[in-house]
Amino acid sequence: MTAWYDEALYTKWQDKGYAQRFRIDRILFEDKSEHQDVIVFETPLFGRILAIDGIIQTTERDEFAYHEMMVHVPILAHGSATKVLIIGGGDGGIMREVMRHADVTLCHMVDIDDMVVEISKKYLPSLSDGVFDNPRGKVVIADGCKFVKETKERYDVVIVDSTDPIGPGAVLFTEEFYTDCRNCMTPGGIMVTQSGVPFAQPEEFPETRKRLRSVFKDAGIYLSSVPTYACGFMALGWASDEAKHRDVSEATLAARFKKASFKTKYYTPGIHKAAFQLPAYMVDALK
Ligand code: SAM
Repeated sequence: MTAWYDEALYTKWQDKGYAQRFRIDRILFEDKSEHQDVIVFETPLFGRILAIDGIIQTTERDEFAYHEMMVHVPILAHGSATKVLIIGGGDGGIMREVMRHADVTLCHMVDIDDMVVEISKKYLPSLSDGVFDNPRGKVVIADGCKFVKETKERYDVVIVDSTDPIGPGAVLFTEEFYTDCRNCMTPGGIMVTQSGVPFAQPEEFPETRKRLRSVFKDAGIYLSSVPTYACGFMALGWASDEAKHRDVSEATLAARFKKASFKTKYYTPGIHKAAFQLPAYMVDALK
């Protein structure tokens, strides 16, 4: 009997004849942590997949499209980031991409769930790719909401790679959290957040932009196309008190990217600039 994994975000549409499902060839890990249901399973098309509370988090095959855009857009736009904070990011993909920037001297990754970090290390090693042992990095197991309230550190870039606004992730979509993030950023720092798939969660990106705008001088949305975040591209929240970061020229980004000297599979300076161009239905929703 073939086993299938149904994406919880789309079970609401099954009566409309739509579902996102993955054939499970093998379950590598499945357990409930103190905070969430965690599973890692193997699929023929996307390789190994991590899902939390029924929602696909990341897959071996297309993770790069999300992790590269969540990391290289803010860091290359900033131009002189040395300290980076990741909230969430337990699979290690964000931290791996951050560590490719030699100028980053300190990267703290704060995830609430040790189980996600440990099973990602064991069953999804290509995501963290050994980065958890990098002396420039530090993994902290804590609620990100509490961490940003209490930390004395100041970061140039904050990357909120959280689950969706349910369960422990819900607090990471609040104005209070965004305010606390801003308070632990250096002047002109940049914050980015995962903000759902506009076609499937149309309320999320306008809400994120509204809350970010109430805290930062400049807030916007940019896009990445991640196949397993189904129903079109994914919205990523952008915020900074320094509006000029969003307007960095493609030529400047290209020079910075060349100097960073690493290869990517999704990010290019051109797609960095294009990512901030939104389709009409999103522009209208942000009015
Ligand atoms: N790329 C995925 C996405 O866009 O949905 C997110 C991947 S990552 C696995 C999400 C992480 O957020 C999980 O490891 C989860 O433990 C963490 N998380 C959820 N709530 C949190 C909180 N309040 N503080 C810190 N980490 C949290």
